[in-house]
Amino acid sequence: MVAGLAGLAFVFYLMDQTILVHFYGFFHVTLQVGVFVVLECALAVLAISTCKARQWLPTGRRDVAAVCVLILGTTLGAVSLNHASKAASAPVRAVIYQHSTVAATLLDMGRRLSLQPRRHNDVIPTATVVRLHGAVDRPSPPLVDPRTLTAGFGADILIITIDTLRADHLGLYGNPTPLSPHLDALAAESLVFERAYTPSPYTACALPSLVLGMPFCVLARMGKSQGHPTIADVMARSGYNTTAFVRDGYFPPGHQTVKSYGDRKFGFDQLWGERPTDPAQTDRTLSFLASQTSLDQKLLTWIHYMGPHEYPAGIGQYREKIRAVDHEVGRLIAHVRRTRPRTIIAVTSDHGEEFGEHGGTKHGHALYEELVRVPLIVYIPGTPARRIARPVPITALFSTLVLAAAGPSADPRIVPQVGAEDAPVLATISRRTSSTFRQTQAMVVVRDQKLICHLERDYCQLFDLASDPGERTDVAPQHADRVRQLRVPLAEWLQLEQ
Ligand SMILES: [Zn+2]
Repeated sequence: MVAGLAGLAFVFYLMDQTILVHFYGFFHVTLQVGVFVVLECALAVLAISTCKARQWLPTGRRDVAAVCVLILGTTLGAVSLNHASKAASAPVRAVIYQHSTVAATLLDMGRRLSLQPRRHNDVIPTATVVRLHGAVDRPSPPLVDPRTLTAGFGADILIITIDTLRADHLGLYGNPTPLSPHLDALAAESLVFERAYTPSPYTACALPSLVLGMPFCVLARMGKSQGHPTIADVMARSGYNTTAFVRDGYFPPGHQTVKSYGDRKFGFDQLWGERPTDPAQTDRTLSFLASQTSLDQKLLTWIHYMGPHEYPAGIGQYREKIRAVDHEVGRLIAHVRRTRPRTIIAVTSDHGEEFGEHGGTKHGHALYEELVRVPLIVYIPGTPARRIARPVPITALFSTLVLAAAGPSADPRIVPQVGAEDAPVLATISRRTSSTFRQTQAMVVVRDQKLICHLERDYCQLFDLASDPGERTDVAPQHADRVRQLRVPLAEWLQLEQ
C-alpha cells in the first residue's frame, strides 16, 4: 500500500512536470497538493503498520491513531514550512524555485502561512527605495540623438506592430532561414535596434506602453496612469490625422485604470474595433490610405497584425505565420513607399514567445530573452541606415517618432530630448487585480548583464548575456555585489515600499 501511494505521488509529480507547464495554475496546484497529501498518507500508513507490527497500540485505537498522525504530520509540516520559507536565504530559494516545482509549491505554501506582513526584503532592500524625478511617468528618451533625425520633419508616420514576434526568428537578427525577406529589406535601409525590449511580455500592458512611451502597467500599479498624452494626442496637435487599425480589446477593456484612455480611443481619430485576418487588415489599411488623396494632410497610422499569435500546430506553423505576416508587411510598405514616400515606418512587436527554452510555452509568464526581446526597425526617409547594439526599450519609439516627425515643434515638457547611454532597460510581469496591476517579476538589463527578480518568491537570477545568451546559468550567487547594484534601478523604477 505504501508503495502504491508513493507511486501515485510520483504519477502526480510527472503530470505536473510535463502537462501544460505554466498554464492552468489551479490544475498544477491541485497536482502539487496531491503529491503532498498522498505522500503524507503514505507516511501515516507506514506509521500505523509499524505500530501494528510492533504491538505499540491496542487494536481498537488504530483508526484514531491514524487520524492523529495525519493531523500532527500536517501541523508539523505547516510549521516547519513556515520556518523553512522564512529561513531560506535567497540563493537557497533560487535553487529550489528553479529546480523543483513540488518543493517550490511547498515553499510558497509556507510563505502564505506566514502571519508576518510580506516584505521585499532580499529582492529590493527598502533603504534603496528613493522617489526618482518622475522617471517612470515621463516618456522614455529617444532611441538616438534627435539631431540625427532632421530628415524626417513633416513626414507621415506608419507604425506596424506584429503580435508575438520574436526578434531571433527574423533574418535581420541572424536567422539563416529566410522567413522575413520584406522586413529584412526594410531593415537594410533603417535604424535597426539589435536588443529592443518590451516593457511587459503581455499585450494588454505592452501596447498601451507603446502609445504612451511609458510602462503602462507599472504606472497603473502606482495610480499614475491617468492623463498622459498618447502619441496620437501629440501628433494631432501638430495637425496629423490619426488612425489605428487595432482592436481596442488588446487594451485592458473596461479596466478602471485605462477607462479614460479607452473612452477616447487612446487619442486616435479612429480605432477600428473588430479583428480581421492579416490580409484583410492590410486591405482595409490600403483602402484607407488610398482614400487620403491630399499629401498635405499628414497621417499617423498604426496597424496591428495578429498572425503569429495563433499557431495550434506548433513552431513550424509559427514560422509559417511569420512568413505570411512578412508578406502582408511587404504589401503595405510597397504601397506606402509608392504613394507617400515621405513616410517614417516603425516596426516592432508587443512580446516574443517561448517554445520550451525555459520549461514553458506561450507568453506572459517569464522575462527571458525569447519573451521580451522583440524586433525594432525605424525607417526615416533620408536618414542613413545603422545598427544600434545597446539595449533599448520599445517605449522609446514614442519620443523618437515625435521628434523625427514634429521636430522642434515637439513640446519638451512632454517629449524628452536626451537620454543616457547605457540607461537600464526594465520590464515587468504584472498580475491584474480588480483595481490595478501587481508586479510579480521584474527585470533590468544594463549592457550585457540581466537581472530577473521574482518579487513574490523573493529571489533574483543574474545572467551574463554576452557569454550566456540562452540564460542557462544563474550567476547571482557568485556576483552578489552586481545583484545589489542592479536592484537599485529596479527598486527606483518600481518604487516598492514595505
Ligand atoms: Zn500580444
